[in-house]
Amino acid sequence: ESQAKAITAVGPNSVAAFDRACQLMPGGVNSPARAFGAVGGTPLFIESAKGPYLYDVDGRRYLDYIGSWGPMILGHQNPEVVAAIQAAILRGTSYGAPTEAESELAERIIEAVPSIDKVRLVNSGTEATMSAIRVARGYTGREKIVKFAGNYHGHVDSLLVSAGSAAATLGVPDSPGVTKGAGGDTIVLPHNDLAAVEAAFAAHPGQIAAVILEPVVGNMGCVPPCDGYLQGLRDITARDGSVLIFDEVMTGFRVAFGGAQQRYGVTPDMTTLGKIVGGGMPLGAYGGRREIMDQVLPAGKVFQAGTLSGNPVAVAAGNATLKRLKAQPPYEYLEKIGTQLANGLGQAAEAAGLPHQVQQVGSMLTLFFNGSPVTNWEQSDRNDRQQYAAFFWGLIRRGVYPPCSQFEAMFLSETHTEAMIDETIAAAKEVLQEIA
Ligand code: PLP
Repeated sequence: ESQAKAITAVGPNSVAAFDRACQLMPGGVNSPARAFGAVGGTPLFIESAKGPYLYDVDGRRYLDYIGSWGPMILGHQNPEVVAAIQAAILRGTSYGAPTEAESELAERIIEAVPSIDKVRLVNSGTEATMSAIRVARGYTGREKIVKFAGNYHGHVDSLLVSAGSAAATLGVPDSPGVTKGAGGDTIVLPHNDLAAVEAAFAAHPGQIAAVILEPVVGNMGCVPPCDGYLQGLRDITARDGSVLIFDEVMTGFRVAFGGAQQRYGVTPDMTTLGKIVGGGMPLGAYGGRREIMDQVLPAGKVFQAGTLSGNPVAVAAGNATLKRLKAQPPYEYLEKIGTQLANGLGQAAEAAGLPHQVQQVGSMLTLFFNGSPVTNWEQSDRNDRQQYAAFFWGLIRRGVYPPCSQFEAMFLSETHTEAMIDETIAAAKEVLQEIA
């Protein structure tokens, strides 16, 4: 049924573009969630974007609640970011040599993020988590790592075990091609469960190099930390000499300027960043306590490098974005419209008589088709996927573009107005009545 609705919702130019792309790229895309596999249908091909809107190749406009999966907190084509990118390109696109702009971005990151004394710039969130794990292992001389089911940290072999998000959506929480060796030192635990972490440390004392997590999970839908969870992890890792890594690729500069660590007042040893820090360009970062980061070559011996790392165009976009977020913080406004949308969606689902759960942290939120709170992967997995698919296509037909998977959060930007949020709630109300 959702397939039939999809056909009317997607215009002929997107259909033709997808047919062509499928001949050329696996599944027609360069990142799996984009293929709309979870909701059944043809993806919309995008021509351009401005402010809170996406425009597809059939000339249709959508209110965008994906924001490129997180980066676009200032909306599309923020004039300051665009000007910075244009100016950077006219000076050259890549030098393979250091620039002062990299130090400016490093300073901005270090000033904003409590755990970071020193930082290294990379090209993606995946590179950031991969490198942080290596540095934590080099620093501690230990091999095991702990991750939590449903947390996604990019497509790093050792972390692609029980990963949420696109992998879970497509029914492959573990990927073929990840060897037993690559995943063998990864201990996967249930999220929001301190007793499980205590037990793992009791079973492997002095052997766990790092605990990595999304402090607010975005990759099994939006899942906030239970009371005391982050502090508990801080205490357990400190006691054992293990490195606590907050993967703030999604939450950094999103749930607060200083990320989840600022919002919840718990400081990890290391932090990974991506998405917003690159202002819509390919850029990630990892950083942490000075003595840990000084393990990285050429200060120390842990190898990590990159031809395009610190790329001047990406760095310019990052600097312009962080400069703007600091000078005119949108966080109070984002909190307000996030709450407006969360309440509106909750009331709409209630009115339709559908079991539901809305979970929100600032400008990240998820409407789960699930009658009880979602604190871990097992609970998230109980969502009604068919209802979500119907919800998705109903909104698409009304010019609203929500995440094309149940296991992704909605993201708001400062260009979303209160009136737009009201329009979205009205559209959702109609769709939810249809589904019920
Ligand atoms: N970590 C988290 C929490 C993420 O959400 C993502 C991407 O969605 C990544 C890491 C990987 O980042 P990238 O897709 O830039 O490699």
